[in-house]
Amino acid sequence: MFEQDKIVKKLFSPLVVVVLSIAFFGVWYSYFSPENKNLRVTYLDVGQGDSTLIQFPDGKVALIDGGPDKKVLEDLGRKLPFYKRGIDVVFLSHPHADHMVGLIYVLQRYKVGRVVVTEGIHETPEYREFIDIVKNKNIPMTLAREGVAFDFSGGVKMNTLYPHTGISSDNPNDLSEVLLLTFRNNEFLFTGDLEKDATESMLSRSKKLRVDVVKVPHHGSKDAYDENLYAMLKPEVAVISVGENKYGHPSLMTLSFFEKIGIKYFRTDKEGDISLFSDGNNVIRVE
Ligand SMILES: [Zn+2]
Repeated sequence: MFEQDKIVKKLFSPLVVVVLSIAFFGVWYSYFSPENKNLRVTYLDVGQGDSTLIQFPDGKVALIDGGPDKKVLEDLGRKLPFYKRGIDVVFLSHPHADHMVGLIYVLQRYKVGRVVVTEGIHETPEYREFIDIVKNKNIPMTLAREGVAFDFSGGVKMNTLYPHTGISSDNPNDLSEVLLLTFRNNEFLFTGDLEKDATESMLSRSKKLRVDVVKVPHHGSKDAYDENLYAMLKPEVAVISVGENKYGHPSLMTLSFFEKIGIKYFRTDKEGDISLFSDGNNVIRVE
């Protein structure tokens, strides 16, 4: 046998292959795994609707809303590691189809640890189906209201700021869950489809609230336009989750306001998925 063949044979001995595979997997895992002590928030491009994936420092995962259809499954498949088959908490901001229908597919495909809903009822077959799946699978359900908090390890907390106890409305938008995600010095606010009156009501109870990132309420609709919200939050970044629609979302008023006061904004319809990464002190946009 030639010397070169011996070297090749040696290089591909089973032991070497195993060692190389482990090394390769280690590098791959440390690079792609979300379990790297940082927080990643991805506003998924689900078309006209909302869906935000949160990957916690300890590898746990939460999803706020699921967009209007099955597309969310493709997005999750792309964003989550292939071995991840569970979602620890699913928040439904309110039961309108553009936030909820995708979650029906998520509940069928993934093992969901808990579902968080609001009191807003929307008597549609889709909402019935959503609730039926939650019940049939015995998934614990929590009612979100001011003060309800979720602790995730790694120092991450999700606090419900709204709705307040006793508030009622015929408009499910105005009973949207408002969630504040805190990771050390960074804060992200999720506002569902909250409209102006409800926003004012929330602000009247929130003494001081500054955030790094706000998801703009109601896809940037003029019904949700409220300068007081941004005066209080002073966000660095605003994210508008929106797709092709006939409602005029986002409104020009909202966009020109952001431009006037210098809030950087990203739109899912123009830029696709928007991933933000926090180490607890700084938020940066990543691929
Ligand atoms: Zn909506």
